[in-house]
Amino acid sequence: MLIGMDVGGTNLRLGVLDAGAVIEEIRVAANFSEICKTHPAQEAWHKILEICADSIKTALEKYPHVSAIGIGFPGFIDPITQKIEQSPNFPGLFNIDLSNDLSALVGLPVIVENDALVAAYGEFYRLNSEKEGAIYSDLIYVSLGTGVGGGLVLNGRPYSGQHGMSMEIGHMITVPNGRLCGCGNQGCMEQYASASGVAISYQEATSKKNTADAIATLARAGDIAAINAYETAGLNLANAVSHMVKVLDVRLIVIGGGMSQAWGLLAPAFQRALDDALIPVLRGKIEIRVSTSGDQAGIIGAALLSVASR
Ligand SMILES: [Zn+2]
Repeated sequence: MLIGMDVGGTNLRLGVLDAGAVIEEIRVAANFSEICKTHPAQEAWHKILEICADSIKTALEKYPHVSAIGIGFPGFIDPITQKIEQSPNFPGLFNIDLSNDLSALVGLPVIVENDALVAAYGEFYRLNSEKEGAIYSDLIYVSLGTGVGGGLVLNGRPYSGQHGMSMEIGHMITVPNGRLCGCGNQGCMEQYASASGVAISYQEATSKKNTADAIATLARAGDIAAINAYETAGLNLANAVSHMVKVLDVRLIVIGGGMSQAWGLLAPAFQRALDDALIPVLRGKIEIRVSTSGDQAGIIGAALLSVASR
């Protein structure tokens, strides 16, 4: 048995896995971002560790046969030291050692990986176990949420890069001199293809503030500005994906994250722009799948990586 955890700025989710399937899930409204903002760094870190350790101990009381813990974390993680260099969701914390600190508290090995990468691995595992015989060896995972994240599985292994920063696809520049991004550059894809990007596109056209969800409802009702906002998202995502496919020649792209529920609104523009941008011989050979694992891919991938990495 394994534990997979998804640690976010607002919620902590923990799943107990038995033979690759989640048999129990625990959710804690942990508000880690808020703890970071209202406490000195050291104090915040102790509180966060305590909350993580408590939820693990609760699970271990019921499932004492758990042998390892994997965690998906939204941040830059050094692939050698396992230290989290920094995370936009955990302001003020730098070079934190979640792996060792938590392992010391719960008495089990703990591995930490980027949240989009563990979700990529979870999707990879799930899609391959669904089919008869292993079909996919590689996969690109795109998470459409507040921002745009990415994860890559190559030859069956998650690829994190030399600095743990591979697949920062949200920051591929798709609009030269475009919108200012939180990373400091201009025209990053996530400024157009994320939920916040859709909201900005809609606001630029109408001067009205709305959430991506509300804009999706408007688009389905025929609102032109809302339809255009999603089309812009699809075009920019296709631009970035076409470059990834040219570099990596991966044939399976899985779309996840909260905004994947509105994929039908992005898909026509995305498919058209992708076909236009691909090398002609690759047209029609790229398989796009919307994730059907709900939000469990991260938990499953993290848990499985806890043993795959050892
Ligand atoms: Zn950026």
